[in-house]
Amino acid sequence: MAAPAQQESREVKGDKQAKVDRLKEISNIAEKRGIFFPTAEIYGGKAGFYTYGHLGKLMKNRFENLWKGYFLEENFWEIEGNSILPSQVFEASGHLKNFNDPLTECKSCHFRFRADQFVEDSLKIKAEGLSIEDLDKLIRENKLKCPRCGGQLAKAEWFNMMFPITIGAAGSKDISYLSPETAQNPFLSFKREFEALRKKLPFGLAMIGKAFRNEISPRQLFFRLREFTQAEVQVFFDPEEIDSCPGWKKISSYKLLLQSAKDRKGDKVQEITCEDANKKLKLPKMYLYYMQKMQRFYLEELRVPKKDFRLYELSEEERAFYNKYHWDIYLNLEALGGFKEVAGLHYRGGHDLGAHEKQSQKELAVFLEEKKKKVLPHVLELSFGVDRNIFALLDIFFRSEKERNLFAFPPSIAPIEVGVFPLVSKDGLAEKAQTVNDELRKAGIRSFYDEDGSIGRRYRRVDEIGTPFAVTIDYDTMKDNTVTVRERDSMKQRRVKIAELAKSLK
Ligand code: ATP
Repeated sequence: MAAPAQQESREVKGDKQAKVDRLKEISNIAEKRGIFFPTAEIYGGKAGFYTYGHLGKLMKNRFENLWKGYFLEENFWEIEGNSILPSQVFEASGHLKNFNDPLTECKSCHFRFRADQFVEDSLKIKAEGLSIEDLDKLIRENKLKCPRCGGQLAKAEWFNMMFPITIGAAGSKDISYLSPETAQNPFLSFKREFEALRKKLPFGLAMIGKAFRNEISPRQLFFRLREFTQAEVQVFFDPEEIDSCPGWKKISSYKLLLQSAKDRKGDKVQEITCEDANKKLKLPKMYLYYMQKMQRFYLEELRVPKKDFRLYELSEEERAFYNKYHWDIYLNLEALGGFKEVAGLHYRGGHDLGAHEKQSQKELAVFLEEKKKKVLPHVLELSFGVDRNIFALLDIFFRSEKERNLFAFPPSIAPIEVGVFPLVSKDGLAEKAQTVNDELRKAGIRSFYDEDGSIGRRYRRVDEIGTPFAVTIDYDTMKDNTVTVRERDSMKQRRVKIAELAKSLK
């Protein structure tokens, strides 16, 4: 009877190894090809800090532009605030008091690490949102020991994740903080922007900017960082309008992929129309509008396969007290062993403007001319970690084949769209290829020229950075002005006239 158990443990080990290998493979390519790499490597670096190389930066720019083009609707605007904000901002927002993670320390070797993640990894249960008392109880009852030296663990305690910073010459008399989210800037700018714009609700303020969190145990490489980029939209609206949505007819039959808090046990995902989610799950129409909008961003714009996507509900204990509805976007990341959070949709109610109004003693309610009434708007927040999404796309589109590695990115996010190669760099082929490359760039296609190594090696190199097309200039080109276009995924080749190349690629 022991055989199945042994086999199972081998399978689990195999899965774990495959996960580690995939993560390693992706990171190796990322480092070797200039996607991302640890910052200050020559000094040993610090966990949680990464630099985007030239390809990673191109990809990040493309993601951010796609995101802006998609989410900035009518009466939605982008602003750019600051990363350093005064302490009053975070007293009001509650970050100074509540932005904590549970920390535990080994009494012998003094290794410090996140208690909830440790409990999750050791006991294979969900521990996010548990109280310090519950975590301590689980550690004691299961006799969990230090993962480094096997020593006894001290009682868990809260650790605040804010980075304090001193301003000017005032030293510790003037403490500010590095912002842990971009959201506070739109809240602080709300009234000014409302007045400067059409004085109408709903309206959205978006910001793409840096966020800083002093994570206790940043791990999983690029997934959990201490300095990262967020892309967030704060939608300000009249609370009376939460169950209305102008384009409702168009979206009511759209099917959402939902895992409610109740569905977690059997790992169930239900496919349910917006109409049914409104009636049966009591989710308001405006919230559903943004749920489907976010789902479509992943399925239609980023082309994430349906099976790797879900909207995941946080239970009452897991979500912040002010969030009435909180669903995250989870993507299936093989390198990290399953579904992980990459974005969230938070109904923050009147918490933010209300708290800033109280702290600053400045009125933030606005007068709505059309409705002849004053309101303190409520906020729906669409929050994305840009770096985490880049990592997720690398994982989702990574393929390790017998002869090659490739990222099967859709062209919308591929850092480079076309590689242009002369078959050989003599007899005028190189010059011709450079002219073709220049013409493609002029036509707005992100192409690059490469003449080093055999043509097979050049194909492998562009596959490895996710370039969807390669164009080869050969001796026939010199006779008939046609080139070979090779598609990355199928490796199929076809002949195209240079005069029609840009149009055909587009
Ligand atoms: P987590 O539970 O993973 O710590 P969170 O729920 O605290 O994340 P939010 O505060 O909702 O995250 O932030 C919004 C988004 O910012 C997340 O969905 C994620 O994409 C990104 N994000 C949050 N923390 C980090 C981090 N340490 N490194 C990289 N991205 C992050």
